[in-house]
Amino acid sequence: MVQIASTITIDGPAGAGKTTIGKRVAERLGYSFLDTGAMYRAVALLAYRYQVNPQDERSLVRLITEHRLDTLPPTQSSSIIRLLVDGEDVTSQLHTPEIGSLVSHVSQWPAVRQKLAQEQRKLAQQGNFVLAGRDIGTIVLPDADLKVFLTASLDERIARRLAERRRVDPTTSAETVRAELIARDTLDSHRKASPLRIASDAHILDTTHISIEEAVAQVLSWIKQEQNR
Ligand code: C5P
Repeated sequence: MVQIASTITIDGPAGAGKTTIGKRVAERLGYSFLDTGAMYRAVALLAYRYQVNPQDERSLVRLITEHRLDTLPPTQSSSIIRLLVDGEDVTSQLHTPEIGSLVSHVSQWPAVRQKLAQEQRKLAQQGNFVLAGRDIGTIVLPDADLKVFLTASLDERIARRLAERRRVDPTTSAETVRAELIARDTLDSHRKASPLRIASDAHILDTTHISIEEAVAQVLSWIKQEQNR
């Protein structure tokens, strides 16, 4: 595929396939992939480690200011941007149940969002980026070259998250994952600051009954269409 210097945004609820699909699209295009959810999770990890109340916006901002949140650029073998907290690569520590239940409280605050959005825009400015999140096409990069909104049924999203969790902890129950997902969806869609919304110019893709490869092919074909316009 001929490449265009561009930014592609993939938004949607938890478990819709944003990371899996976004990563593969980025790999096919030779682009970088930024999972903005991981940035909010890194702040939640800091709150967890330093026992900061996730309802205390000011203390959260202080936490972000006092600690270093950095990104590591992609390598030859991976398109993923990795996250460092005070120099430590925490990418593999961000998907625990503890962080999962904290993150949507941390991400509700405008001042926290502003700081992370600033960083996301700075990275995207480099061009050739796929960014996944909740507000990327609506708030962070409203002028992105292509916007995708991924959806999937609640049961399918729960099944995907459960499979992921059970790889780490085989005793994880479906009820726990269901409760966490519903709680996060509700908080993310109803918060005042940058709630999860479909951008008016986004392509919507329901991934409930299609394979990852079919979803990737659909996104790539939209990119191609955009390029030929
Ligand atoms: O994508 P993931 O499920 O890892 O995101 C974790 C949480 O981070 C979301 O539930 C949401 O609260 C927050 N988030 C956000 N805005 C983004 C990306 C993630 O508020 N752009």
